[in-house]
This record gives sequence, structure tokens and C-alpha cells, in this order.
Amino acid sequence: MIDDGKYELFVGGEFVPAEGSETITTTNPATEERLAEVPAGTAGDVDRAVATATDALDDWRLLDPAERGRLLHALADAIRDERDRLARIETLDNGKPLSQARRDVDGAARYFEYYAGVADKVQGESIPLSAEYVDYTLREPLGVTGQIIPWNLPINILGRSVAPALASGNVSVVKPAEQTPLTALEVARLADDVGFPPGVLNVVTGYGPEAGAALAGHPDLDGISFTGSVPTGREVGTAAVENITHVHLELGGKSPNVVFPDADLEAALDGTVTGIFATNAGQVCSAGSRLLVHEDVHAEFVDRLAGRAADLTVGPGIEDPDVGPLVSAEQFEKVTRYLDVGREEAGEPVVGGEALDRPGYFVEPTVFDDVANEARIAQEEIFGPVLSVIPFADETEAFELANAVDYGLVAGIFTSDVGRAHRFAREVEAGQVYVNEWFAGGVETPFGGRKRSGFGREKGLEAIDSYTTTKNVCLRIDR
Ligand code: ADP
Repeated sequence: MIDDGKYELFVGGEFVPAEGSETITTTNPATEERLAEVPAGTAGDVDRAVATATDALDDWRLLDPAERGRLLHALADAIRDERDRLARIETLDNGKPLSQARRDVDGAARYFEYYAGVADKVQGESIPLSAEYVDYTLREPLGVTGQIIPWNLPINILGRSVAPALASGNVSVVKPAEQTPLTALEVARLADDVGFPPGVLNVVTGYGPEAGAALAGHPDLDGISFTGSVPTGREVGTAAVENITHVHLELGGKSPNVVFPDADLEAALDGTVTGIFATNAGQVCSAGSRLLVHEDVHAEFVDRLAGRAADLTVGPGIEDPDVGPLVSAEQFEKVTRYLDVGREEAGEPVVGGEALDRPGYFVEPTVFDDVANEARIAQEEIFGPVLSVIPFADETEAFELANAVDYGLVAGIFTSDVGRAHRFAREVEAGQVYVNEWFAGGVETPFGGRKRSGFGREKGLEAIDSYTTTKNVCLRIDR
């Protein structure tokens, strides 16, 4: 932070003024009050950051990989050392409850730690050919990469996207969301503090259609990773393809959470509440936003769920409730519009359904029951604490319903029948399957979508594939 909540861009290892004077004021979504100001970066600022990153590329990619790993490890430690401060900033900027922000910060540190360990293990293979040849592969970084980060998990997704990029020898230009730009700038500062070479990690704040579009369409970019909505993903993908830039899209979800009568229903309730209400107020691409519940336990389950939802505390993230405010006025309007759509499509919700009558963007945890799978609230990503419940009669119907949606990010099942869990895992169109716990898995487990949820994988070792390219070297050795 410079002073008085005024930030600059972070380019070439230092805070620098943007070329223009326009700024973006970020607000605290719990109070609607001004929090900080960041530059509204322009195409010119993106140009400068990409040029700076390009200058830093050769030294970084040729650095001893063990040293790259040490630097990433040091950044993980620095993030942990500032855990409380970063979590507080994230809570004030995004709205999420403080303990969830702490988890996000821990997650970001863990990404840098995990990929620190991977940095010196990005290795190729040797390929047997006939005796006159030696053949091997080199795994090389893409080069200059961009990461466009959404507002729902700012520091966490930065770690998820940037750590594997840097570990495998790429340099980065990050464009955080205009609603939540602060922790990206803080992490860039920490990277400099721990000794990253200038230009390896740059952050350009700004509006999506301006700074984001300039980054996505930059001709000197070798790879772009985008996490966000489908329409914006389509634009980013199109811009990248214009330049034949390697692109990775992690888009939305409308993920099925399937509950069978043989499940541990208490665990299923925990998973349902965590999956749609008690994680970032449902503003998560992998939220369990469609609850498919077997008709034998439907009434009991929905009744207990309504009780659990009604008991959740809703308030400013800084007071660490279960559910914080939505991120912005725009998101608040979108979610409250869906409450109206839900009433038209499914009648009165069994719990919730109202915005809180106070400053800030608070919406009650809401459950619509007996929703038709074709309904908009069962098909469209709401990105808020709004759950659609769809009953089913048997396994065949459950699996069909689970897939009857455009998205395919994650899917969850609660059952004690191991065979059924595996059948579901095989049949469901999703990039990740949770069995008996929503959000099971971690930094180590590959993550990404199918269908409209995108393509490419982040997390785990697979993320390294997303950030490297294979070069085959074939030698004729008998001449
Ligand atoms: P939302 O609509 O919920 O804000 P977006 O998918 O539009 O979600 O935003 C995710 C990220 O994409 C943010 O960093 C945003 O600034 C950026 N963005 C928005 N529009 C564009 C665009 N046209 N090109 C590139 N990035 C964009």
C-alpha cells in the first residue's frame, strides 16, 4: 500500500504510476464505503507490463529450477507471515467471513509451497527409437503468461494460477478483478521482498473490458489463464485464438449435489450448507447449487436443511459470520433478480428469499424446493446463496438430471453404496467428483471443467502441463 489506501500498479519489481490518472475505488461490500483506490490500467499499462515481463523471461526460465523453487517457497512463507493482514484486506475488499479469508490465504501460500516443490521436477522423457537415434523431450515454459483473476477468491486463485506458471519458468502479468484488486498487489510486493527478480510477477489493475481485454489480446503473450464467467471467457478465448495464444478457461458451474437415502444425512447436510451457503455466500464456481435429493428422504432432508440455513449467521465478514455480503451492488442486483425468478418458477422459498434491510449487499440463504430441472434457477449460475432442490426417484433419473445442464465443473454424491459412487463418478460430466464431502480435495487435485465450464486443468501436477510445452529432440548418432 502506498498511503491512504492508494495503490499503484506493480511492474518490474516496484509500484509504479499508471499512464493515466483514472482510478477505481474499491468498496467494502458490508458497508458500501470506500476502501481503497487502484489505477484503472489501460492498454498502454498492459503493454509496459508485458514488455517488462518479456525482458525478465530469459533470466527466469534459465535460472536453476531449485532456486526458482526456493523463491516460491519464500513467497509461501511471506504470505503465511502476513496471514492476518492479508485475510483482513481480503475480507474488507470481497466481503467474505474472516475465517474463510484466512483459509484462502492459507490456500494461496500452499499453492506457492506445492509448486515450489515441483519447480525442479518438470522433466521430460527419453523415447526409444532404433539404434541410430537418441530422442528426448524438453518441457519448456510457454513464456510470458497472463492470469485474469475473478473477484470471488482473489488471493487463492492468484496462487492457483500464478504459482504453477512461475514454477515452470514462465513470467506473469496478473489482472485482478476490479472489485477485489488489493491482495494481488500485496502478493506482488511480497514476491519482491523475498527476492524475486524484477519483472517476473507484475500486476496491472483495471477494468475487464479495458485492461483485461488488452491482456487477453496481447500479441506478445504466450499463454493466458482466465477464471470467470462464460461470456467473458468466450471473449478472452476469442482474443487469445486471434494471436494463437495458448488459452486456459475455467468458467462457471451449476453443479449437482446428489443425495441418496443410504447416505449419512448429517454429512450430506454439512456438505450442502458448505457447498452453497457457508463458502463465500455461494459465490463459488464449484458451488453445489443444484441439490438432487431422493424422494424417500426429500421432505425430511429439505426440512432439516431449511433449519440449518435459517440458523446461519449473516453479517459483515469482519465479524466472521457464516455468510458475508455479496461482493458488489451489481452482484446483489443479479442475485435478488434471481430471487424473483425463483418465486415465479417455484413459488415461495422454504427458507430465506430476502435481502437484509441494512447497508451492504446481504442476501439470506435461500432454498427453492421442487424446482423443475428446466427452470432458469436450476440451469443458470446465480453465484449467490440460492439453492434449487430437485427430487428424483431412482439412480438412473438422478444421473440423467445431474448431467442435464450446460455446465460440467464439479459434481458431488452422498451415498454409502461404493458401487453407486463409482458409477456416478464414471457417468457424470464434470472435471471433479466429490464423494461424501463437498469441496473434497485440495491443492494437489486437478481442477477444471467440461462442457461450458471450460477446459484445461489447474491444481496438482496437471497445472504444469497447462503452463509448459513439449519440445522433442531427435539426434542421429551414427554420423
Ligand atoms: P463478473 O461478470 O462476475 O464480474 P467476469 O468473468 O466478467 O465476471 O470477470 C472475471 C475477470 O475477467 C475480472 O478480472 C474482469 O475484470 C475480467 N474481464 C471482464 N471483462 C473482460 C474482457 N472483456 N476481457 C478480459 N477480461 C475481462
